[in-house]
Amino acid sequence: MSYDVFDVIIIGSGIGALVTATQLAVKGASVLVLERYIIPGGSAGYFEREGYKFDVGASMIFGFGQKGTTNLLTRALDAVNISLETIPDQVQIHYHLPNNLDVKVDRNYQTFLENITAYFPDERLGIRRFYDECWKVFNYLNSMDLLSLEEPRYLLRTFLQHPKSCLGLAKYLPVNAGDIARKYIKDPELLRFIDMECYCWSVVPADMTPMINAGMVFSDRHYGGVNYPKGGVGQIALSLVEGLEKAGGKIITSAHVTKILLEKGRAIGVKLASGDVFRASIIVSNATRWDTFGKLLTQEKMLTNENQWQQRYQKSPSFLSLHMGVKSDILTNNTECHHILLEKWEKMAELEGTIFVSIPTLLDPDLAPHGYHIIHAFTPHWLNEWDKLSQSDYEARKEAAADRIITRLEKIFPGLDASLDYLEIGTPRTHRRFLGRSDGTYGPIPRRKLPGLLGMPFNRTAVPGLYCVGDSTFPGQGLNAVAFSGFACAHRIGVDLRLG
Ligand SMILES: Cc1cc2nc3c(=O)[nH]c(=O)nc-3n(C[C@H](O)[C@H](O)[C@H](O)COP(=O)(O)OP(=O)(O)OC[C@H]3O[C@@H](n4cnc5c(N)ncnc54)[C@H](O)[C@@H]3O)c2cc1C
Repeated sequence: MSYDVFDVIIIGSGIGALVTATQLAVKGASVLVLERYIIPGGSAGYFEREGYKFDVGASMIFGFGQKGTTNLLTRALDAVNISLETIPDQVQIHYHLPNNLDVKVDRNYQTFLENITAYFPDERLGIRRFYDECWKVFNYLNSMDLLSLEEPRYLLRTFLQHPKSCLGLAKYLPVNAGDIARKYIKDPELLRFIDMECYCWSVVPADMTPMINAGMVFSDRHYGGVNYPKGGVGQIALSLVEGLEKAGGKIITSAHVTKILLEKGRAIGVKLASGDVFRASIIVSNATRWDTFGKLLTQEKMLTNENQWQQRYQKSPSFLSLHMGVKSDILTNNTECHHILLEKWEKMAELEGTIFVSIPTLLDPDLAPHGYHIIHAFTPHWLNEWDKLSQSDYEARKEAAADRIITRLEKIFPGLDASLDYLEIGTPRTHRRFLGRSDGTYGPIPRRKLPGLLGMPFNRTAVPGLYCVGDSTFPGQGLNAVAFSGFACAHRIGVDLRLG
């Protein structure tokens, strides 16, 4: 049993955690990151099999732009003097939607608008007005440093420097994207397209998707763009760890925190499954809020504000993932990296409704053996479909689900089944086990329509000395979003610890 003392201990090493850790280490704090898995990165991690390097989750990466302030992954790496080679993706998504709606979201804004307007010529003006309003939100965000909204001096300074942007953003904070879309657009099928534009990253339709997040995604894809890190998404976490260590921070992997220790109600340390204890002035949890307050803190009564949060937000489903290695000749020359497939609008948010596809080897061929590609296909699934099955039932259910998904994918990749070289199937159980996420959830989603982002908690919690970072905090899921959460968390802690 050891009793090392640090300024800050961070539970987990997802991108939110690693941004917090690196930011604090460069400010001079002594930082320890404890990760339960064997490598860092969480949902932005990777695994290798038979010459393939698979991303476990994220592969459509925002935040690697070179200008403005919203390029938070570039900025996080810059802070520790590391730059990562990235490969620009010319098309964010190729949609294959009901009624043969086949649209590519081009990196060039005008080309994208033309692509969608070709299907809805009567809505030309509405389309332009909706996406232009998203740009308004983005331009406000992109004019200011994105730090902690819980820090009054930063708020005042930012307000004095950028009063128009601050007032503009305040106006959009309680608004959802669907409210704005319906202001300009009447065609029901086009509104369903906007729903899908939101659903594919927020996992809720436009009416429940905060306008701030929509403004970021719908504009940054044409500004900083979507860029894939050379060597795979896992390189982001590995590079941040390299930067953390260079800045004097420390990470221990295979270090499962089982308990946050309290003294007189204040978080003062953590206990590991091994029995080791580490103490710190501040504890940050990168575990989901359900895991942090349900498992790591053992208290008789759920804190009132956590209770309220759980009444507003619920766990989104997890995913069924097919990690495939395929012969490269099944892909035609103009195949894009990211696809979304849906045959019936009513099924968009249902289990196995929407299928998400990534083919990262189109951007970085070195992730697969020569002559082969990686296809990662995933679709929403709930844990309860997979829990408490015998091993043979579990395997049989996985095979049956994979067959269904591959059959549907044959429509866009004819010959897929016959070209399979490798297949690994992940279920919500896999996500729970390897990502340490309650029920394998992708993250919190509103239970009902909420006023935009106003209900999302920031980094401080009701427990003194305990902070949260990652996708259970403002502004939610996605690598650039959790990087924002990381910058904000480190900023607030830096002020609390009076770091220079
Ligand atoms: C299938 C899938 C596809 C996705 N696609 C995209 C995409 O294309 N683009 C995009 O931007 N985002 C995407 N995302 C979302 C994105 O990956 C996540 O929002 C983001 O990575 C979450 O980061 P986080 O900081 O919250 O931490 P997480 O990634 O959840 O990491 C938390 C870490 O904490 C560790 N941990 C948890 N509990 C403990 C404990 N008790 N002790 C020690 N360690 C612990 C976990 O092992 C994990 O490493 C995708 C996610 C999934 C699952």
